[in-house]
Amino acid sequence: MFGILKERLHQKYRTLDYPAKEPFLPPHFKGRPSIAPCSAGDCRVCQEVCPTGAVSRDAGGHILLDLGRCIFCGLCEESCPEHAIAFSRTYRLAARTREELIVRQGEENRTEPSRNTTKGRALFSKSLTFRQVSAGGCAACEADTNVLNTLLYDLGRFGISFAASPRHADGLVVTGPVTTAMQRALVDTYLALPAPRLLVALGTCAISRGLFADSPECLGIPDDMKIDLYIPGCPPNPWTILDGFLSLQQSPVRN
Ligand code: SF4
Repeated sequence: MFGILKERLHQKYRTLDYPAKEPFLPPHFKGRPSIAPCSAGDCRVCQEVCPTGAVSRDAGGHILLDLGRCIFCGLCEESCPEHAIAFSRTYRLAARTREELIVRQGEENRTEPSRNTTKGRALFSKSLTFRQVSAGGCAACEADTNVLNTLLYDLGRFGISFAASPRHADGLVVTGPVTTAMQRALVDTYLALPAPRLLVALGTCAISRGLFADSPECLGIPDDMKIDLYIPGCPPNPWTILDGFLSLQQSPVRN
């Protein structure tokens, strides 16, 4: 007993003080980008270098960057002669709608967390359980999700956990581009969740199929499965994932 107490004192408290304190992010971290006005006329370098077609222009010629397709490789930022695209360190990237993932030229960087402040009124505010399905992913999104269960992040202190059975879950977390081999399993798992079921598309592959968008073997999440939360990234940083889960937990359920 004395040995246990001694070791406990030696180890001290390891869980990070989040969300009271902002998390530490690695130097190479790329967060939500901003797009400054570009005076390069017909220059299309940012569009041409993008491997996933995430950069486009609207009818007025303004640059748009789709975070749902972006793999955060940084090529557009590096190659832009005008330095119009700049990735910030804003890790709060999760969105409730697909439209929110579109970054428009000249728009203010979104720094406020997309959270509902009516804490306690949300159905899952005290307890939120997920079932995770890896639908053809490379395991990077899964690894950055699994790390939330370590004592550093301690996901359980927020009342969020993962269950082995969809019958015991409130929501489904999908990773990967949904290969043909996995689509049936994904749909069956989703339908096994009790209503009102939540659906989280975690990572660029789950949101848009990312680098595999042109593959006939990658089908994506079926259109009739309503997505409640989009968490972009390739893979998303664990803090981005945690922030997304908390935003969903603290929001009223949409039916
Ligand atoms: S950082 Fe994103 S938008 Fe820019 S080139 Fe890479 S994938 Fe495309």
